[in-house]
Amino acid sequence: MVLYPVIRQLLERRVVLASASPRRQDILTNAGLRFEVVPSRFKETLRKAAFPTAYAYAMETAKQKALEVAARMHQKDLRTPDIVIGADTVVVAEGEILEKPVDKPDAYRMLSRLNGKEHSVFTGVAIVRCSCKDGRLDADVSEFHEETRVRFSQLSEELLWEYIHSGEPLDKAGGYGIQALGAMLVEHIHGDFFNVVGFPLNRFCKELAKLYCPPRPEDVQRVKHDSIPSVDTFENLSDVESDGSSQCGARVGGGPPQPPGMKNTKDRDPNPTVESLPPMGLLQLINGFKASKALFTACKMKVFDSLRDEAPLSALEIARKIDASEHGTGQLLDVCAAFGLLEKTERGYSNTDLASLYLLSDGEYSLHGFIMRNNDLVWPLFSHLEFAMREGTHQLHRVLGTMGKHLFQDFHYGSQEKRQQFMAAMHSLINVAARQVATAFDLSQFTSACDLGGCTGTLAHELARQYPGLKVTVFDLPDVIKDAKCFQPDGPETARVSFVPGDFFRDTYPEADLYIVCRVLHDWPDNQVHQLLSRISSSCKPGGGLLVVEMLLDEEKRENQGALLQSLNMLVQTMGRERSLGEYRHLLEMHGFTDVRAVYTGSAVDVVLATRA
Ligand code: SAM
Repeated sequence: MVLYPVIRQLLERRVVLASASPRRQDILTNAGLRFEVVPSRFKETLRKAAFPTAYAYAMETAKQKALEVAARMHQKDLRTPDIVIGADTVVVAEGEILEKPVDKPDAYRMLSRLNGKEHSVFTGVAIVRCSCKDGRLDADVSEFHEETRVRFSQLSEELLWEYIHSGEPLDKAGGYGIQALGAMLVEHIHGDFFNVVGFPLNRFCKELAKLYCPPRPEDVQRVKHDSIPSVDTFENLSDVESDGSSQCGARVGGGPPQPPGMKNTKDRDPNPTVESLPPMGLLQLINGFKASKALFTACKMKVFDSLRDEAPLSALEIARKIDASEHGTGQLLDVCAAFGLLEKTERGYSNTDLASLYLLSDGEYSLHGFIMRNNDLVWPLFSHLEFAMREGTHQLHRVLGTMGKHLFQDFHYGSQEKRQQFMAAMHSLINVAARQVATAFDLSQFTSACDLGGCTGTLAHELARQYPGLKVTVFDLPDVIKDAKCFQPDGPETARVSFVPGDFFRDTYPEADLYIVCRVLHDWPDNQVHQLLSRISSSCKPGGGLLVVEMLLDEEKRENQGALLQSLNMLVQTMGRERSLGEYRHLLEMHGFTDVRAVYTGSAVDVVLATRA
């Protein structure tokens, strides 16, 4: 459950904590934040004397830690994070900054200084909002610090040494940890307890709220409205004004759209009125389909391909290349530029890095196949959502004009072309998430895996790449296995990936220590999910594993917009739905699995691992 609304706004952003501190991780995890941990390599060697105050030093260290991680991820990773959080906690006694003791005598020196007196604990926090512009990292840094005053009891030498010998002081600023044994040293505190532990959660949420959530209309000057807001208000809201950051969904004031992470809080209207706070989230929701269709059309008409390896081209040149009208092309190009997919200059249009990476039809991380499936199938399926609601079932027959009882054989694989489009879509989506899936858990204890419904083998190859001791069998319907070879990557790990044709509802599964069902269970209604799990459970040896890869709903089914929409997507195009971790745990435990645990990857899918009892 997420108590603080702003934390919910971050659920679908890629949030990174640039700290290895388990205490910070615990505080943020308990607050419901989903994040990756990438410890900073920034050496904490700033000259303390160069800073006017201890907290200025802590804030600068926090900022440098976060910026180092943002820059490293931007260079090395495929996706620049949306937010990197850095923090540095220092203990200050009589004007001296006490960091982590280097050894026991140093811990004794520090604790003696604190003994029987009051000191301050400062945590500097940096929230770095990142975006990628022309291949460059744009980092917007917000910093703050929090102070808590702590008073130690008068402690005997014996007790101090006993505490030091417990080992607790050595990795803690000031030489003590208030959350564990160190609590016994503390007489009282004034301020946020979590700040002393290492992260001022309450202040952090307030700062996030300033950055991501504008004040609600009822919190600002009230203006009586007898009818809808004036036309002027709506004129400000062009369809492309969205900044693409749909979670918060609101932008205060007019002005040109800004890419996510580039908004300057200082530019905000300090006294927004109801007129200046139209319901952007709602309007974005209403207009969202236009943005999707504009992207689909640009991909389908090969706008991004036409700009591959080229100097900027004018609208007319692009129109000629894609065989379209200049007028229509110009409008679509401008929309793409406003969404950060194209760069528009006086010399014409060119692809942004985002487009080059994901939108070319044959790039390594191309989402083209996935986008085409959305355009050609999912889009018309969603236009039948009302029927799906009434009938409670998929709408494939209406869109494809075929009838049948086998979801895949009769509908999705009704022709070779459809099957290949399906496979291309599966490949392109899992390809961008495969590394996160493969590394969500340490799977190195397994020597053989079987990916049931493994389709193109994309995840299998990534698993083989990550685990040199692992052999992976891809098990899928015979026609799929036949076509899978066109998706095979190069590389030595391909020797450890094999393909076996079969029907997972009927045929015997290949032997394996680890079974994988990636985006398979969500296709089926409960009775068939039970059938699959029961067959997997019978094939799996005690101690063997089952990896379930799906988008996880939150337990109350009200927060994770992406997963909820995906569940609706399952309604219109399969016979299944998405489930929460609790639901998967229940299902898996019913079928003899235990120790069910999940990693929320922040990517297109989450990962659940269970052990066969
Ligand atoms: N695991 C792949 C991924 O995540 O990219 C593919 C997921 S796709 C939604 C479901 C897969 O299950 C397809 O590859 C499909 O061919 C396979 N499948 C469906 N029915 C099957 C059956 N009866 N036996 C074996 N595989 C089946």
